Amino acid sequence: MLFGALEAGGTKMVLAVGNEYGEIMEEISIPTKEPDTTIPLIIDYFKEKNISALGIGSFGPIDLNDESSTYGYITTTPKLAWANYDIVGIMKKALSIPIGFDTDVNGSALGEATWGITKGLSSSVYITVGTGVGVGVYINGSLLHGMLHPEAGHILLQRHPDDNFEGVCPYHPNCLEGLASGPAIEKRWGEKASDLVDKQEVWELEAYYLAQAMVNYILTLSPKRIVLGGGVMHQMQLFPLIRTQVKTFLNGYVKTKELDNLDEYIVPASLEDKQGIMGCIQLAKLRCQAP
Ligand code: ADP
Ligand code: ZN
Repeated sequence: MLFGALEAGGTKMVLAVGNEYGEIMEEISIPTKEPDTTIPLIIDYFKEKNISALGIGSFGPIDLNDESSTYGYITTTPKLAWANYDIVGIMKKALSIPIGFDTDVNGSALGEATWGITKGLSSSVYITVGTGVGVGVYINGSLLHGMLHPEAGHILLQRHPDDNFEGVCPYHPNCLEGLASGPAIEKRWGEKASDLVDKQEVWELEAYYLAQAMVNYILTLSPKRIVLGGGVMHQMQLFPLIRTQVKTFLNGYVKTKELDNLDEYIVPASLEDKQGIMGCIQLAKLRCQAP
């Protein structure tokens, strides 16, 4: 059986066809322009592929409430051409197949939970640290939506006492995305994150903020493992720094066998940056199986 996968990002769209085992047969990527330009290209790509369903992992915010009249819409995004855009409805009409829909980061969380490093675990958290910071939450075997969907990249943090950087989030002076995303690193230190590899203080501070956020996720969501992906997390030296800080912030309060082994609890994404698109295949598959 073949499934379509669409990872809808603010700068690019990744389109792929895969099977029920998560194997990707073909994949292309196109820039995200206005919907009138981009959507017809997506429809043309999937039209002749003989797919049984399409899974979309989208930038947001999006409406995931199936009782809402705007279910399947991209809603209040600052990318104005895409605001209030019925992406699920339009793809459904054009392709006449079931459409699975979730946030891009929930897609990545699902990819890892189905085929990757959190496979077999009932609860996990996936954090992407890239242009933005996003958090996907897989709890008791399904993706968490709630009122809207988690927006835990904007969790508010305690500033490091020596950090006077104003942050890059237009909404919050002290949120994780504003203080620790790729653009935040670049603006604070005046160089691209990938050119700051040898500056220890950059990664110590980055780990300080990521660990604080992660402790909050540990205390509220109790995941069995936390996966970190996205461009910034290619800096592997962050992992031991984050683990040390998580231990310090938890200060022994929660004692579990998982937290006794932080090397296996806080881990890099395992699917070679295919976790998002593979998650979209699983979103399609689940939608096909839905009653
Ligand atoms: P996006 O979030 O746009 O989907 P990425 O996850 O690749 O894409 O994130 C892009 C951000 O990550 C940029 O701010 C970039 O500077 C940063 N980044 C990309 N690769 C690296 C790297 N190897 N090391 C550190 N930062 C990186
Ligand atoms: Zn914010």
